[in-house]
Amino acid sequence: MKKLALHWKIIIGLVLGILFGILLSSIQGGKQFTIDWIQPFGTIFVKLLKLIAIPLIMASLIKGISELKDISKFKSMGIKTMGIYMVTTVIAISTGLILVNVLKPGNGISQETIASLKENYSSNEGIQGKITEASNRSNQGPLQFLVDVVPDNITFAMSDNKSMLQVIFFTVFIGISMLMIAPKKAKPLMKFFDSLNEVILKMIDIIMLFAPYAVFSLLATVVVTSDDYYVLLALLKYSGVVISGLLLMIVFYTLCVSIYVKKSPLWFLKNISPAQLLAFSTSSSAATLPVTMERVEEHLGVHKEVSSFVLPVGATINMDGTSLYQAVAAVFIMQVLWPEGLTFQHQITIVITALLASIGSAAVPGAGMVMLIIVLDSIGFPKDMLPIGLALIFAVDRPLDMFRTTVNVTGDATVALIVNKSEGM
Ligand code: ASP
Repeated sequence: MKKLALHWKIIIGLVLGILFGILLSSIQGGKQFTIDWIQPFGTIFVKLLKLIAIPLIMASLIKGISELKDISKFKSMGIKTMGIYMVTTVIAISTGLILVNVLKPGNGISQETIASLKENYSSNEGIQGKITEASNRSNQGPLQFLVDVVPDNITFAMSDNKSMLQVIFFTVFIGISMLMIAPKKAKPLMKFFDSLNEVILKMIDIIMLFAPYAVFSLLATVVVTSDDYYVLLALLKYSGVVISGLLLMIVFYTLCVSIYVKKSPLWFLKNISPAQLLAFSTSSSAATLPVTMERVEEHLGVHKEVSSFVLPVGATINMDGTSLYQAVAAVFIMQVLWPEGLTFQHQITIVITALLASIGSAAVPGAGMVMLIIVLDSIGFPKDMLPIGLALIFAVDRPLDMFRTTVNVTGDATVALIVNKSEGM
């Protein structure tokens, strides 16, 4: 009997998870049952992925760099990667801005909807937490992001899942130094990381055996814990604009792959789909990273020298989906609450700040909304109206996070393919 491909198994888990969630939401005690007995399996799966992310980044990046013939190759790859990341993010923001200006989702929201969202959400703990987090960040100096990249204690950086860039910095530093010492001396370390890398790839294979069940658990949990279906309907136009923009980005990536890399869109989507489905289910590019790396290296054929650098950096700083969402959400909130404040100049400011905000967003669920506050701040959105603004979009944030994370991960994989091709690999 033909074995079912992994992505089909995950899709089945996903659909069954949604159906199970809907069913259990309508049964008394079903929500608690799901939280107590189903959710833990999804949580364990995400923990396992996060567990191997840091050793995987270190092993594969050191292996990748130390296999380079010389350092100048790393420099050219680094500059190229950053350049392409910037360009794709600006394309994503512009797509979002065009759609939100043409379709104007903010114009259709009734006063009753605004009043009820305001009443239900503006003192919501989640929203208040995000406002506090954003204000802590915006109190920092302009060069703080550079300071943050350099760790002063590597074990601390490794133990904190938010410090991925610090781990990358340290690892690149080791890799480059290895290239600069006598090859004979670097060899034992290379062998060690090579072997560690193989072991971790095997661990990913083992973890992925549980992916369909984990996805079932994750989706069932998302469905039973979001009971605001009426809000989903009220915000249908806004969600539709964000999702259409995200779909356009996927089309854009497949075009890049077929035009530049000369591979069929179907081939690309089929091979990357397990990573996309996990991004969708976990809403975290960081948790998905091990699977993205495995798919890009083993199934899309990208050389480790490229993927080991492009993907971890991309998971942290390249968030096309997030930046598109931030642009649409910022303009949507302005359209509803402060239409007279929305000038062309503001939209240009949104392009720049959403670019920086997506770079600064952590690769974890809901991080995009924290940085959205900074985008709104940059265009002078009144501070006292912030809780109401966020209340407008809070209820649909999780489903939209699932879609935007999928785009974030697809964008990273596309750039890995492009850099791979342009480096002649
Ligand atoms: N959840 C997103 C990610 O991990 C970030 C965000 O937009 O909230 O890529």
